[in-house]
Amino acid sequence: MDKYSEIRVPISHDNPSIRRNERKCVLCGKCKDVCKKKMGVAGYWKYDSEDVVCINCGQCANVCPVESITEQDSTDALITAINNPKKKVVVITSPAVRVSLGEMFNLPAGEFVAGKMVSMLKTLGVDYVFDVTFGADLTIMEEASELIDRIKNEKTLPQFTSCCPAWVKFVETFYPQYIPNLSTCRSPIGMQASVLKNYFAKLIEIEPSDLVVVAMTPCVAKKFEAEREELRSYYGKDTDFVVSVREMGKLAKRSKINFSKLKDVPFDSAFPTGSGAGVIFGASGGVMEAAVRTAYYFTTGENPPQDLLQFKKLRGYKDVKTATVNLLGREIKLCVIFGTMQARLLLDKLKSKKFDMIEVMACPNGCVGGGGQPRSNNSDDAVVKRAQGLYEQDAKMDLKSSFENPTIQMLYKEFLSAPLSEKAEQYLHTTYHKRDYKK
Ligand code: SF4
Ligand code: SF4
Ligand code: SF4
Repeated sequence: MDKYSEIRVPISHDNPSIRRNERKCVLCGKCKDVCKKKMGVAGYWKYDSEDVVCINCGQCANVCPVESITEQDSTDALITAINNPKKKVVVITSPAVRVSLGEMFNLPAGEFVAGKMVSMLKTLGVDYVFDVTFGADLTIMEEASELIDRIKNEKTLPQFTSCCPAWVKFVETFYPQYIPNLSTCRSPIGMQASVLKNYFAKLIEIEPSDLVVVAMTPCVAKKFEAEREELRSYYGKDTDFVVSVREMGKLAKRSKINFSKLKDVPFDSAFPTGSGAGVIFGASGGVMEAAVRTAYYFTTGENPPQDLLQFKKLRGYKDVKTATVNLLGREIKLCVIFGTMQARLLLDKLKSKKFDMIEVMACPNGCVGGGGQPRSNNSDDAVVKRAQGLYEQDAKMDLKSSFENPTIQMLYKEFLSAPLSEKAEQYLHTTYHKRDYKK
């Protein structure tokens, strides 16, 4: 029991994402405030036992003024894996990491440091570094196909995005009646980790259990996602463990790596970087914009026009954004939300509000404001600059949409066959389940 649960969020001892150092807590109540007002979690369940409800977003860690709440640290596990000669270690890096990692080394928010990030990981001894924008492209191939299937065949709508594990857990806990609305697509990390264990391990001729897949993310909810039973196979977990931007920044400093002096190194070539659509996944509205680009191509056979390559209504630091797009001969209604409190408000009136697709990301402005991002600088200004960094990178890229990515096309040809095929369903999709809690 947490005797201070009137003031602060209780944290269970087995929470895979966050922990509290009791000696540091000054009982300020900021953690409970953000959990209640922004996440819509604290105050919506009854605390009288060890059964703590938490969606693992880590926003409480971001606002704790004394670092009493921190992420669960997995860097020792990473070092152990690197030092094990039997194992090959792959780190896959999420889109939003490349615009925030520099802040751990006093670079400005939004500065694009992908090359230094790869260099840092290689210096630490990681065997392969791949970009999760590739997994994001895979997610879009499947999610856009799923949306078209739901619309054409009059299946359950609106389709909810499923790449944010905190949002998925929120639905499973508080709104299980909407589980059929959640896209069955695994998150980009979930898809990429599955492809690495089931396809890449064979390419390099090792057992999947000897390939250690580590996700480097702005997110601590991914630590929870990696533990999901649905994302395991005969070899164990798809994602072996998850390290946040904060953890990796601290590890690099402990390892005396001079980050700003590192030379840029490209991602490893087996899965080169994804499209611009994959890059913007890290900002609120990015998943929706990426899905629209590919859904447009799938339904018209033509490349998306310029206004869909810069879908202004889906961009910007607003917790609720709406837009429409013409697809399949009708107006498709889109809604983008960040903060699960805003999602709670929408779900409570969803019967009267008609949408075809809803994107929800738990954190402020999406993953750029994730619970594992550099905390010293997690201001509104920083999350806006990080998002700008992603959109600027998208604008510079020739490859704008997921369907154009040649490596994605190769993967479908050699391994997955087609979006929503039997193999794609097996390796890229998942299921969800209702979670009980005390009201
Ligand atoms: S991780 Fe999120 S849901 Fe869990 S206690 Fe913290 S703010 Fe609340
Ligand atoms: S925000 Fe930090 S210091 Fe304040 S009550 Fe919560 S754990 Fe304690
Ligand atoms: S918004 Fe991004 S960082 Fe935040 S919980 Fe969801 S996936 Fe993780």
